[in-house]
Amino acid sequence: MNTVLGHQVLASDREHLWHPYTSMTEPTPTRLVTGANGVRLTLDGVGEVIDGMSSWWAAIHGYRHPVLDEAVRRQLGEMAHVMFGGLTHEPAVRLARQLIDLSPDGLEHVFLADSGSVSVEVAIKMALQYQRGVGRPERTRLLTVRGGYHGDTFGCMSVCDPVGGMHSMFTDVLAPQVFAERPPLASPGFETVAAQHPQPAAGPAVEEVALRPSRNHRTQPAVAAWAESFRKIAAEHAGEVAAIIVEPLLQGAGGMYPYPAECLVVMREVADRHGLLLIFDEIATGFARTGSMFAADAAGVAPDVMCVGKALTGGYMTLAAVLCTTRVAHGLSASESGVLMHGPTYMGNPLACAVASASLDLLTGSDWKGNIARIERRLSDGLAACRDLPGVADVRTIGAVGVVQLDRPVDMVKATDAALAAGVWLRPFRDLVYTMPPYVCSDEELDRICAAIRAAVVAQ
Ligand SMILES: *Cc1c(COP(=O)(O)O)cnc(C)c1O
Repeated sequence: MNTVLGHQVLASDREHLWHPYTSMTEPTPTRLVTGANGVRLTLDGVGEVIDGMSSWWAAIHGYRHPVLDEAVRRQLGEMAHVMFGGLTHEPAVRLARQLIDLSPDGLEHVFLADSGSVSVEVAIKMALQYQRGVGRPERTRLLTVRGGYHGDTFGCMSVCDPVGGMHSMFTDVLAPQVFAERPPLASPGFETVAAQHPQPAAGPAVEEVALRPSRNHRTQPAVAAWAESFRKIAAEHAGEVAAIIVEPLLQGAGGMYPYPAECLVVMREVADRHGLLLIFDEIATGFARTGSMFAADAAGVAPDVMCVGKALTGGYMTLAAVLCTTRVAHGLSASESGVLMHGPTYMGNPLACAVASASLDLLTGSDWKGNIARIERRLSDGLAACRDLPGVADVRTIGAVGVVQLDRPVDMVKATDAALAAGVWLRPFRDLVYTMPPYVCSDEELDRICAAIRAAVVAQ
């Protein structure tokens, strides 16, 4: 039972507040959180539950982490915020250095944005300005693959999946982008290319990169067929396209859909051949979620532009970043304005930078590779039994992501109630019941999350 205060808060919430993707007239139930500690949320009327979502994939170290709390407190003692126009500060400079050191080679310049969507807008703007700077102003479109998700603002929406995204509602408003086929689904035991492909030198005409034979005979022909179609559509549209933009290795909100790392090698080759920039949106995949620090690392491919967000601050505050190469930075600086035309009010917020910096220290100071491998094994074992449940279309695990896909849309209310009864907070979407747990979950906590996913599936 909710407390009396809880009832009042929820009534007022229902009256006045928008929640993500909900109706004001027919909202789905909303729960009141009164606290969060470690991997647990305290819900009014329910009690403590394990957070299987990491607050939308961000809270990788759990809640109220003493090191992160202290980083915010210490920064609060210096200053909470100052404008970034004409001013700078140590937390931003330190964070930029860390991001450059961690990220794939060649990314040397950092734009601090205030959310993932804004960082994608900035990345797109970088690409358009770059092409103007190098004398190709007619290149104004973007090439992407179907099934993607890049955020909710208009530039972002234009490169989200044209069917599953919001295109139908905004057809006349969205920039018409070029959509290639979705890469094939990575099947279990798929072998990643693991840093064996050096980054092709930046510049024109690069030979086609031969796909290394994979042990997985089912996936290999599918990759070759996809590569052919991708090369073809890129060649058809190269003269009007500024950049390729994709979520590397795993499409997140577009369907929790992993695809072979070889596809990233193909994208790099195609980008180099046609003078396109390669933008990796690592907002969901960054900071070890799929098992490598960045998904790009699994293919040994370095993008020209990379977006990070979500887990960047360990889930403490909104912050994102766009990294780019010197070639891109210098190219766009030669465009007619001479400057990158973007500058959010809260750019480089010191509190957010300080906690991001501390979160990266925690991550890099841990055995993150071994830990993600542990989580992957546990989720994979724990979810295996779901394969035989009625209505289950697929079960897959990649790094610290565990997914059960149904053969129909999830009844979210039933699924959430069943998971909460099993002591776990889950937020399914479309036909997916999934978890992206905090990295600090113990084996027992991971088992409980898997049991709750099973319960949510059985409740359908
Ligand atoms: C969440 C997400 C975004 C948008 O980030 P916001 O901070 O919600 O604006 C963009 N791209 C990807 C891949 C994401 O997962």
